Amino acid sequence: MSEILLETNGLTKQYGKHKAVDHVNMHIRKGAIYGFIGRNGAGKTTCLRMISGLAKPTKGQISLFGYEGKRLKEVRSRIGCLIEAPGLYGNMTAYENLMIKCKLFGITQKGYIENILETVGLGDVGKKKTKHFSLGMKQRLGIGLALVGEPDLLVLDEPINGLDPQGIAEVRDTISFLQEERNMTVLISSHILEELSKIATDYGIIHEGTLLQEMTREELFKRCSERIEITLDHPEAAVPVLDGLGFKDYQVMDRSHIHVFERLNDSDVLNSALVKAGIPVRGIGVTSEELEDYFLNLTGGAAHA
Ligand code: ATP
Repeated sequence: MSEILLETNGLTKQYGKHKAVDHVNMHIRKGAIYGFIGRNGAGKTTCLRMISGLAKPTKGQISLFGYEGKRLKEVRSRIGCLIEAPGLYGNMTAYENLMIKCKLFGITQKGYIENILETVGLGDVGKKKTKHFSLGMKQRLGIGLALVGEPDLLVLDEPINGLDPQGIAEVRDTISFLQEERNMTVLISSHILEELSKIATDYGIIHEGTLLQEMTREELFKRCSERIEITLDHPEAAVPVLDGLGFKDYQVMDRSHIHVFERLNDSDVLNSALVKAGIPVRGIGVTSEELEDYFLNLTGGAAHA
């Protein structure tokens, strides 16, 4: 298991009677791109704001680079964040916007700004006023601003939201580059699982303030891949039958489902063996799921517009 860089324990934020974030236990591995997925209003921004130190938790702990409690502020400068729209000065160039932030950080190194512009794919437009930028360029400059000071953890709140397909691809490429070439850990939120599925190595799914699941990319793809799905009342009773038939690649998903990821043509054999063992099967069949459907089913039906 790789080193955990960020962990939350019972993280909660309450506004009046409403719990925007409710006992979230999140685990982010060093070097991961952690896709934080939830519908609008699920609590993503609130969580990211608490992690970045922009909002105070009502309850719970955050542990960052092994620091927690009062000592957290010693390491908050190692986080770079882009939460909500980047605050850009429209009448200034991309270069000048970055220069202001560098001054605040006391960075005067030659070539520093050019390097960041290059990293976020804005090397050619550094002298252009940002009011003439596309939304995608603005987001990438926002990421560039978050990179000032070389953070170890980058926190990006819906950086892909509202971008056209090219803009999405460019932001994705920038994030992958930062993780692969700069060893940065990235926490990125989105309300569309599919959009992050090309880059995220780990996932956390939040719904109505609660973190429903955390899983690796491999687990996610496995959960959505082609499989025999068995619906029954006591899955644990079926385990010896599966073992007896030589099945190895299967998983008890919950209290009424088993997924079998091998020998997809053997569902008949499996069904009769279960019935013979006195285990009533309510349904059996080969199925797969689109990523987005998986997310929507998990969070209760079709998406709202
Ligand atoms: P979106 O993508 O729409 O921003 P989100 O998942 O980021 O959604 P949050 O912005 O974290 O969700 O909001 C979670 C819940 O908390 C919502 O019901 C929201 O109305 C509420 N909320 C957020 N900030 C405040 C606040 N300052 N005061 C009161 N309620 C708030």
